[in-house]
Amino acid sequence: MDLGIKGRRALVCASSKGLGRACAAALAAEGVHVTMTARGAEALAQAAAALRLAYPDVEILEVAGDITTPEGREAALKACPEPDILVNNAGGPPPGDFRNWSRADWIKALDANMLTPIELIKATVDTMIARKFGRIVNITSAAVKAPIDVLGLSNGARTGLTGFVAGLSRKTVRHNVTINALLPGPFDTDRLRGVSAGQAKASGVPVEQILQTRMNENPAGRFGDPEEFGLACAFLCGARSGYITGQNILLDGGAFPGTL
Ligand code: NAP
Repeated sequence: MDLGIKGRRALVCASSKGLGRACAAALAAEGVHVTMTARGAEALAQAAAALRLAYPDVEILEVAGDITTPEGREAALKACPEPDILVNNAGGPPPGDFRNWSRADWIKALDANMLTPIELIKATVDTMIARKFGRIVNITSAAVKAPIDVLGLSNGARTGLTGFVAGLSRKTVRHNVTINALLPGPFDTDRLRGVSAGQAKASGVPVEQILQTRMNENPAGRFGDPEEFGLACAFLCGARSGYITGQNILLDGGAFPGTL
């Protein structure tokens, strides 16, 4: 299926690994020129090189920096000042007990997972509106629909972003600018494996057993493949997806037990 976005420009934040990288790859496969960001320059350079090799006809730019800082966002926007497609992503806040979280912890989480995407939307949405094409995808979490108690910082920050976007996305769609969120359940990424390794260390249970138990608990009997996530992102960015906006789409193998 040709998504009709060949030659468009995308800024895909936090994309040297995992879900962001899969979104960058799926967009490049559609002929989209992609600007990738991450803090670690080496892994970012490797990821960008792999995409250049796989998709020699598209331009792949890389910008090393922390997207949750004003400097990081400025550098990303300098490389890709007027994206047609914006994929907002960053690392998630740490788990913990809310009794131990200070105001600074909350501000950090809000900065990373709520205010950074809002700042990037603010910087790009009006040029999208002027050009009558824009696709914004926020990578949030299944925890927006089914909060996980130890991830209170994430639940709070991401739900704040979701509420903000719910309003704005109904204003922009008239101009063929859509804003949606993809809500990952468990996907097989470094993050998932890192969290599981931490649980293994704390509990003494072998990491393979922890991973197998988590897979068994999911209705699909497995983790999501990041490639599946990237393809869903590319679909939302497609030329013919202009009637989908303000949606929060779960990709969780059916783990959320509700009807709606
Ligand atoms: P991942 O495999 O650890 O990859 C994270 C990517 O983001 C890396 O490229 C990382 O590179 C980059 N990154 C992190 N913080 C950044 C920052 N401040 N500025 C720029 N780049 C940054 O993680 P993932 O599994 O793809 O997760 C992506 C998002 O989805 C996270 O917010 C996570 O909480 C959420 N999520 C994931 C799952 C899952 O099962 N995988 C489930 C629910 C929600 P550097 O470290 O070099 O910056």
